[in-house]
Amino acid sequence: MDTCDWCNLSEEDRQFQLYETKSWSVFLSDEQDYIGRCILVLKRHCGSLSELTEDEWDELRRLVCKVEECLKAVLGATLCNWSCLMNSFYKDVVPNPHLHIHVRPRYDTPVMINGNAYTDDEFGHHYALKKSGEMPAEDKNEVFRRLREWLDRQIT
Ligand SMILES: [Zn+2]
Repeated sequence: MDTCDWCNLSEEDRQFQLYETKSWSVFLSDEQDYIGRCILVLKRHCGSLSELTEDEWDELRRLVCKVEECLKAVLGATLCNWSCLMNSFYKDVVPNPHLHIHVRPRYDTPVMINGNAYTDDEFGHHYALKKSGEMPAEDKNEVFRRLREWLDRQIT
């Protein structure tokens, strides 16, 4: 079996880890085309939702609630688009999928970060695959700081 990048995340990859449970890690996505976009990664190597254990499903359910509550409370998300796609793994000759789930928060009003307004122009429609607009590093850091602060408060 090929080595799996998702099983061997580097310190750099983990730089934007927001939260973790026994079975799952939550990271702020590199792409911030939807402000606060995150990725939930299963900590063990597993290729599809249908192979999750009862405990992993149970944790996932609670994590979905927590992450949605966080995105709504901190950034004012109206709703969240959840997706488990896995398509890119199947471009390889020998696919070696590692389960992960994307969450794209959607907004009916602009989100302000460091004085910059971010608008969800397709609100009410499917998310865009190639949404335009780059987020400066300081704005991404600010989003990370705010989400992390809220999540840290919940643990205690
Ligand atoms: Zn893996």
